Amino acid sequence: MTYRAVGTDTSGRPIRMSPVFTDWWDLYVDRLGFVPTITQGGWMGDLAAALSSTTHDGDALDLRVWDRTQNQVQAMVREARALGAAAWLRDQRHGGFTDPHVHLVPGRWAHPSASALRQWDACRNGRDGLASNGPDYHPYPLATTPPKDDLMAAADDILKAIDAQTKAINAHTDKRVAELKNRIDISRNRIREVLGSKTSKLDANDRAILEAILADDDA
Ligand SMILES: [Zn+2]
Repeated sequence: MTYRAVGTDTSGRPIRMSPVFTDWWDLYVDRLGFVPTITQGGWMGDLAAALSSTTHDGDALDLRVWDRTQNQVQAMVREARALGAAAWLRDQRHGGFTDPHVHLVPGRWAHPSASALRQWDACRNGRDGLASNGPDYHPYPLATTPPKDDLMAAADDILKAIDAQTKAINAHTDKRVAELKNRIDISRNRIREVLGSKTSKLDANDRAILEAILADDDA
């Protein structure tokens, strides 16, 4: 999986995300109405915080909470889950973290590490995603996948409408073309009949010319 750095975290380390997770982040920020401070991104390898273990070896985020209100912190957890990412407020009580933060990992729709995916599955199963495997301590449901964002949904609807219109226009055009062809055929046959009845009155030379023209018309 390729990832890209989208900036630096609060410790000056690169914030790395896969493209799908980068798009997701934009949607998440839109839903929140504010931009959470990222204290740790994904694909950290040896740069990862010790307590993070391998959960930050793929797409994952830690978000600062001390610069947010209680409501905003709850929204960070709730909206992440609504958009298909497991999230918990980690602190001293939950995970032994001295620097409280929202730990967030996407599901199979993005590129979490194996251990992050186990946490995501734990969240789906109503667990807290910690080694002790306690019950989930947030009330918010976790969606399997992010919903399509509004813009994409609108674009899809427009494309469908255009497709339906194009089909209707094509069907109508085909019908009109067939009608016109039929009328042309009728007209041509009548012209030929009229002309044919006149050939007997022509001299040999003119008849030959007319027959050549009628023959040409058949070509
Ligand atoms: Zn984390």
